[in-house]
Amino acid sequence: MQKIVIVGGGAGGLELASRLGRAGLDGVTLIDRDRTHLWKPLLHEVATGTLDDGVDALSYRAHCARVGIRFHLGQVNGIDRERRELLLAPMLGTHGEEVLHARRVAYDTLVLAVGAHSNDFGIQGVREHCYSLDSSLQAQAFHLELLNRFLHVQEEGGEEECVTVAIVGAGATGVELAAELFNAAEMLAHYGVERAGRNGLRVVLIEAAGRVLPALPEAMSQRAQKVLVSLGVDLHLNTAVQNVEVNGVMTKEGAFLGADLIVWAAGIQAPSFLAHLGLPVNRINQLEVEADLRVKGEDVIYAMGDCACLREAPSTAAPAGRLVPPRAQAAHQMAKYLAELLIKRARQPAKVQAIKPFAYHDHGSLVSLADYQTLGSVMDDVMHGRFLIEGPMARAAYLSLYRQHQLTLHGPWRTALMMLASGMNQWIRPSIKLY
Ligand SMILES: Cc1cc2nc3c(=O)[nH]c(=O)nc-3n(C[C@H](O)[C@H](O)[C@H](O)COP(=O)(O)OP(=O)(O)OC[C@H]3O[C@@H](n4cnc5c(N)ncnc54)[C@H](O)[C@@H]3O)c2cc1C
Repeated sequence: MQKIVIVGGGAGGLELASRLGRAGLDGVTLIDRDRTHLWKPLLHEVATGTLDDGVDALSYRAHCARVGIRFHLGQVNGIDRERRELLLAPMLGTHGEEVLHARRVAYDTLVLAVGAHSNDFGIQGVREHCYSLDSSLQAQAFHLELLNRFLHVQEEGGEEECVTVAIVGAGATGVELAAELFNAAEMLAHYGVERAGRNGLRVVLIEAAGRVLPALPEAMSQRAQKVLVSLGVDLHLNTAVQNVEVNGVMTKEGAFLGADLIVWAAGIQAPSFLAHLGLPVNRINQLEVEADLRVKGEDVIYAMGDCACLREAPSTAAPAGRLVPPRAQAAHQMAKYLAELLIKRARQPAKVQAIKPFAYHDHGSLVSLADYQTLGSVMDDVMHGRFLIEGPMARAAYLSLYRQHQLTLHGPWRTALMMLASGMNQWIRPSIKLY
C-alpha cells in the first residue's frame, strides 16, 4: 500500500485529501498543525466577527474519519529525504508542557500544501505590533481586541474618541477588511454599543502602489475606491511604511499615522522551514515545481497552492510565462489535478502514465465590500477578455466560491444541509459574534 502524505489541510490540501479519500485510496494521511480548518478567504469576516468560526470551522479529525483517511495533528519542520520520513516538532500543551514528543511519519509520496503567511519584508515593528490574517487564531485575537476598544470608547471614551484601525496593504484582503469593519461597527451599534457605528470607526488604509487593488483591473480598483471613500476610509496611496510602532505607522515620507490596531496585509511568503529542506525555493520560500507539480529534481515530492512557485509555459501574451498566482482558485485547481494524477498512479502503478501538465485557468477575481458592494472581474472564455460585474450577480459568484470548496469537501447533500443550517442561523443567532 502506497503511503500518500499531505502536509497542510488548507484550501488546496484538504480538497486533495478529501478527493483521495472519497476515491477509496488506502494509505492517505493528512497532517496539519491546527485542529480545525476554516477556508482562508473568510478570515477577514472572522476578524470583524461577521462570521463565527466556532460555527463554520471544520474538525480535521471528524472530517478525515468520514472520508476514510488518517489525520495527524502536528507541525512539520523537516524532511529526511533519504529515509522518506517527515519530521514533526514536539507538540506543546497550553502551559508549555510536552504533550507529544518529536515524531516521524513515513511517506512514499509527499504533497506539501503548507500555504503562505503575510510577509513583513523585515520592516521593524511589524511582528511586534501588527495583526495579520494568517490563521483563525490571529483573526479571533484581532476581533476580541476590536470589541474591547469599542467597549472602552462606549464606557469611558472622550466625546470625540473613536476606534482607529490602520491596514497596511490595499490588496483584496486589506480592501475587504476595511469595508467589513464598517459593516461590523454598524452591527455593534445595533446591539447596544451605540458609540460604534460608522462615526465611531476610523479606518486608515495604506498602500505603496498608486491605487487600491493594484493587481486587479483598473476599472475594478476605481469602483472599490469609490465605495471606500464613501464609507470614509482615510486612503494613503503611494505610501510606503518605514516602521511600525505600538500606536501607529511611520511612513517613508516621514508622516506618522496613529492607530489603535494595525493590520499587516502586504504581500506573502511561504513558511521559512521550506528554505532549509535542500529543495529549490524562490526568494519568498515557495518551492519551485515542474508542470506536473513535482518539486524540481524530486520524484515523489509535490508542492501545491500558495507554497508552490509554478511558471507557466511561455505564450504570446506572456513571453516569459506567467506565475500561477497564490489564490484559492489556483489551490482548488491544483488539488483537482493532483487528485487525478495520484489516483491514476495508485490504481495502475506498473503503467507509466502520460500526465498532461497542470494548466491554470484564470476565471477572474471577486472582491466583497461587505453589504455595500461586491465587484468582480470575470474572464469571458468566448471573447477571451475580461468584463466587470457588480451587485447581486457578483455577490452570488463570490458566495459560490466558498460553496464550491464545501462541495469538494462534503459532497452535494451535506453542502445543501450546511446552506440550510447557515440560513437558519441568520434567524437564530446574532448577525455578529459578540461572545
Ligand atoms: C484574508 C484573506 C482573504 C483571501 N481572499 C481570497 C479570495 O477572495 N480569493 C482567492 O482566490 N484567494 C483569497 N485568499 C488567498 C487564499 O486564501 C489562498 O491562496 C489559499 O488559502 C491557499 O491555499 P493553500 O492550500 O495553499 O494554503 P492555506 O489555505 O493557507 O493552508 C495551509 C495549511 O497548512 C497548514 N500548515 C502550515 N504550515 C504547516 C506546518 N509546518 N505543518 C503542518 N501544517 C502546516 C496550515 O495550518 C493550513 O491549514 C485570501 C487570503 C486571505 C488571508
